[in-house]
Amino acid sequence: MNDKPIPLDEKHPSGPVTVGDLVITVDRDLCIGAATCIAAAIKAFAIDEDQKSIVLNSAHEEKREHLLEAVRSCPTGAIKVREAVK
Ligand code: SF4
Repeated sequence: MNDKPIPLDEKHPSGPVTVGDLVITVDRDLCIGAATCIAAAIKAFAIDEDQKSIVLNSAHEEKREHLLEAVRSCPTGAIKVREAVK
């Protein structure tokens, strides 16, 4: 069936991970697996076997505006972003 999604960082599948100029973290305690983040940014997010959102290894291919839309669309505010330190 579906291939297992590959996280950007195997040790920290829900972040914090740096994608472009953003550092993304999904708070797994807040995530309810609603998947609206995937609808907004399908290359960046997937649901793992625990029904929690992870940041994919293809996240760099996602548009920044889609990443921010995913943050806005999460019903529980589980996705946190901050500017990466250059
Ligand atoms: S939209 Fe929020 S609650 Fe839903 S899967 Fe994504 S991070 Fe989790």
